[in-house]
Amino acid sequence: MANPRESELHYPLGEALPAVGEVLDIAPGIRWVRMQLPFALDHINLWLLRDEIDGVRGWTLVDCGIANDATRAAWEQVYAKHLDGLPVLRVVVTHFHPDHMGLAYWHCERWNCRLWISATDYHLARVASGSTVGMGGDAAAAFFASHGLLDEESLAKIRARSSYYPSMVPAVPPAFRRLQHGMTLTIAGQPWQCIAGFGHAPEHISLFGAGVLISGDMVLPRISTNVSVVDVEPEADPLRLYLDSLETLTPLPEDTLVLPAHGKPFQGLHARIDQLREHHDERLDEVRAACAARPCHAADLLELLFKRKLDLHQTTFAMGESIAHLHALWLAGELRRERGEDGVYRFTKV
Ligand SMILES: [Zn+2]
Repeated sequence: MANPRESELHYPLGEALPAVGEVLDIAPGIRWVRMQLPFALDHINLWLLRDEIDGVRGWTLVDCGIANDATRAAWEQVYAKHLDGLPVLRVVVTHFHPDHMGLAYWHCERWNCRLWISATDYHLARVASGSTVGMGGDAAAAFFASHGLLDEESLAKIRARSSYYPSMVPAVPPAFRRLQHGMTLTIAGQPWQCIAGFGHAPEHISLFGAGVLISGDMVLPRISTNVSVVDVEPEADPLRLYLDSLETLTPLPEDTLVLPAHGKPFQGLHARIDQLREHHDERLDEVRAACAARPCHAADLLELLFKRKLDLHQTTFAMGESIAHLHALWLAGELRRERGEDGVYRFTKV
């Protein structure tokens, strides 16, 4: 959802954006690459960090873009023009989502280098790339139906979307190097701290070094991070995990330059964390009030929580978010969950 307090953030590069296939230098040794996405969220930011590994000078790439011809062509242009004649030495992926993971296999093959990622997200990417688990298909449709999404047309589309992840991540590198919370990566002689975050992906890794936070999808300036319950973990409490994860970012300095995966680089990390907390507190209050008035299922709350017309892609995200807000209150003991004779879960204030 759009950030009503965006003006509290500072964009040090103003309105500047790198064109497709071009880069913008944003700090010494850090280049911003921006690739297009075929969604309502129409772009992703990717980062090139000057590096040196085992005496070889080159670049560390952070996040990859989805696997399609346009993105590969844009990367070829970046490679030809903007690597200063040096190779990519490693590929870091913040989390398994297709816009971040998609071309990891292609980059690693092309440069004969290693993928670095959390073990949880690596293994989920491999599973998801090779099957339909959790990303659509019958199980996802049944899950959404159990939370009140009963529109047959939407359910049919979700059922049909059985190769959603593999279409954007057709292959995953056969081996990886594990990133974990608290690890330090040395990039061009500088220490970068790995910070795990939860609730958006199973084990998202952000990187903090040289006064810069590569925040992936955990902190975005303009939209709130998607926090969804999905069918493979139907009783999950991702909103609680996400809000707790924001706490691990609050010790970082106020003047941290945040490099988000979507939107523009910004300063104002602490303000943004406050805004995100406030945003979810308001949504939770709306859910509390609705469930005090009558038993509600997740689909009942879509209009209340999102206040706009949603396409199918957005509806699946929105359903996941609606369930996440219900679960945060249910698992904290504020709501009671009951499954009706129609098979739908409804939540009522205790
Ligand atoms: Zn993501």
